[in-house]
Amino acid sequence: MSAKQITMQPNKRIALVAHDNKKQDLVEWAKFNRDLLAHHEVFATGTTGEMLERELGFEIIKLQSGPLGGDQQIGAMIVDDTINFLIFFWDPLEPMPHDPDVKALLRMAAVWNIPIACNRASADFMISSPLMDSEYNRLVPDYDGYRKRKIPVPEAMHKSAKASESK
Ligand code: PGA
Repeated sequence: MSAKQITMQPNKRIALVAHDNKKQDLVEWAKFNRDLLAHHEVFATGTTGEMLERELGFEIIKLQSGPLGGDQQIGAMIVDDTINFLIFFWDPLEPMPHDPDVKALLRMAAVWNIPIACNRASADFMISSPLMDSEYNRLVPDYDGYRKRKIPVPEAMHKSAKASESK
C-alpha cells in the first residue's frame, strides 16, 4: 500500500491516559518529565487529567473519564489529527468495563501510525527522542484503495439498480 505523509509539528498534541492501578506510575513519570511535556499540548481522560493538572501545575485539556467515553473521544481525535501522540498506561492485570474502547483506541493509534507508549520504559524512550522537538513526517497508509474497494453486490440488488437506472 502506498503512503501519505502527515507532518507533525515540533509541538506535539499528546494524550495521556492511565488505568487506576497505573495512575501513580503515570503521575510520577509526568512529574519527572514535566518541563519536557509543558511546551506540548497535553490532553487526558477525565480522572487522569485531574490528577496530572494538580501535580504538574499547567493546563491539561480534560476529556470524559475513560469508561464514560474518554477513550473513544481520544480515538476520534486521532482520526482527525487533533491528537498525534499517545501515552496510555493500560492495566494488563485487570479486566475493564470499557475493554472494547481500550482495544478501539489502540487500534486507531495503529491505523493512523501515531507514536504510542503503553508502559513507562517505552514512554521514557519516546520522550527522550530528538524527534520530540522537531518536525516529523509521519507515514500513513494511503487508504484511498480501501475506500474505493469493490463491494460484492448480490445479483438481485444489481438488477434492481439497473432497472431503476433505465426508468
Ligand atoms: P480516567 O480514564 O482517566 O477517567 O480514569 C482512564 C481510562 O480508564 O481509560
